[in-house]
Amino acid sequence: MLLSIVIPVLNEAETLPLLLARLRESLRNIDSEAIFVDDGSTDDTAWMLEQEALQDPAIRLIRFSRNFGHQAAVTAGLDFANGDAVVVMDADLQDPPELLPRMVELFTQGYDVVSPQRISRDSETLFKRWTAKLFYRIVSDLTGHRLTPEVGDFRLFSRRAVLAIRSLREQHRYMRGLAAWLGLKEAFIPFDREARTGGRTKYSFLKMMRFAWTAISSFSAFPLRVSISLGCCLSFFGFAYLLRVFYLALWSHSLVPGWASVVALQCIFSGMILLALGAIGDYVARIYEEAKNRPLYVVAETCNIMLSSKSRESLTRAIILANSAPRDTLTMRQAACSSPDNDGHSAQSSLVGVGT
Ligand code: UDP
Ligand code: MG
Repeated sequence: MLLSIVIPVLNEAETLPLLLARLRESLRNIDSEAIFVDDGSTDDTAWMLEQEALQDPAIRLIRFSRNFGHQAAVTAGLDFANGDAVVVMDADLQDPPELLPRMVELFTQGYDVVSPQRISRDSETLFKRWTAKLFYRIVSDLTGHRLTPEVGDFRLFSRRAVLAIRSLREQHRYMRGLAAWLGLKEAFIPFDREARTGGRTKYSFLKMMRFAWTAISSFSAFPLRVSISLGCCLSFFGFAYLLRVFYLALWSHSLVPGWASVVALQCIFSGMILLALGAIGDYVARIYEEAKNRPLYVVAETCNIMLSSKSRESLTRAIILANSAPRDTLTMRQAACSSPDNDGHSAQSSLVGVGT
């Protein structure tokens, strides 16, 4: 049995040595390959991984042409994985590699998805813990309780689960949602989430908010519909208020001209209308982006990757750039780290677009 480990990396040079050491230690008795997806790192990450790949054919590297985001990197890793089971994990060792043998054990017992579940996040800031809790709660409520709280992207998928996920090629991707949507047989392993080994988190507050919105809007049309109920309530309230104003104007002479309240109400209602319009606009924008059918990522370089013609066919919405150097001038490094071709050699054309 071959186990593939997919690891998206963005400027993780600081944690790589320890990650590789702990991975090798944990995978001593398991036939495995590690697929690193370099998501446009600007530090030594790609260089370090290239050196590792030259020495160890089980280390594979896919380099994006620029930063396409964590979810696109995970998608690429799953696209290129050959294993009977595939694990997706972060590079910062917040997902302990020591859990891998136990995950494989559960996979061999017949589970399609094995999900480590965080029982503690003591190492993280109060703010991160609080926002994460709120996030899981809202997303779970809006998506019909399909998502399990405290389960992140660190998961094992069986080959058939990977094939199923590969066939879902939407642009705005929320991998946890896609996996949950498939509804496959899932096992859970509780674990303590530790602090980052080095470097900084790549998810800023703004990025986290965008990610949360993707999770909600990809799996729920509730924000679109909420404006309907809000609009109904507000119209009813406005109508009732108007009746009262009429009554006061006709039967009592105590109507005080209250510009302030009118202006305040106007602001509130306009704000709500703009908010609802914004939600609709965002969904329209997403439809527009899906309609363009753009590739999810562009691979500029790979190491130790071979693509069979079969997997090439199933790889849609991805661009894989071929090596620009002529084949006879390739150095040893270029031969290992170039672009994948059907026969494992470098492709001669300057651009190979795969199913775009
Ligand atoms: N990552 C990535 N591209 C990005 C952001 C993050 O490949 O645009 C990688 C990052 O190197 C790490 C994993 O995704 O291996 C998770 O990111 P991070 O640990 O910063 O997220 P957090 O755990 O803080 O939510
Ligand atoms: Mg992390």
